[in-house]
Amino acid sequence: MPITDAKVCMLGAFAVGKTSLVRRFVTSQFSDQYHTTIGVKVDKKTQTVDGHSVNLILWDLYGEDDYQKLRLSYLRGASAYLLVLDGTRRTTLNVARQLQRMAEDALGSVPFIVLANKADLVDEWEVTQEELDELVRPGWRLVTTSAKTGEGVEQAFQLLTESLIRSDRANTSAPKAP
Ligand code: GDP
Ligand code: MG
Repeated sequence: MPITDAKVCMLGAFAVGKTSLVRRFVTSQFSDQYHTTIGVKVDKKTQTVDGHSVNLILWDLYGEDDYQKLRLSYLRGASAYLLVLDGTRRTTLNVARQLQRMAEDALGSVPFIVLANKADLVDEWEVTQEELDELVRPGWRLVTTSAKTGEGVEQAFQLLTESLIRSDRANTSAPKAP
């Protein structure tokens, strides 16, 4: 059976725009309001690539993102993740690097897309193209996004869904161990 449901975790430093990206993708809305309660929010949206539909089950931490404490229960069973950084804050690039390692330790090499968010504030970006090129290793995909204008958001989720379908095909067509 091809993949039909995929748990997708939002990963990234505090205030990079994880919640805003999910809201933009799921409800086509943006809000400047800031939520500081702690918890996990789960949203669902079906994405179709080449006639193949995948129910994306989007896991998002809100409030202080304490990944150290939540790490295993949050990531467990995830098929993929979105790694978000905020172009206006260089520190979020280092956090993204750390979180990618943490996710790979916990999940192995599952599909993920790097989102360089807040493209609408590009004049205020601290993160340079060189730094992004350095971050992105072979096989990584990066999309520049804005949860505010919607730029790149649909594309990022579409790429993620394509990667999920591709890796699912690769896994199911791989020869079984004897
Ligand atoms: P989270 O902590 O990663 O979930 O970040 P939020 O989604 O709560 O966003 C943090 C702040 O950044 C909020 O004030 C958002 O309105 C703002 N924000 C998020 N994405 C963007 C974006 O693409 N552009 C701009 N200008 N602001 C954004
Ligand atoms: Mg949030």
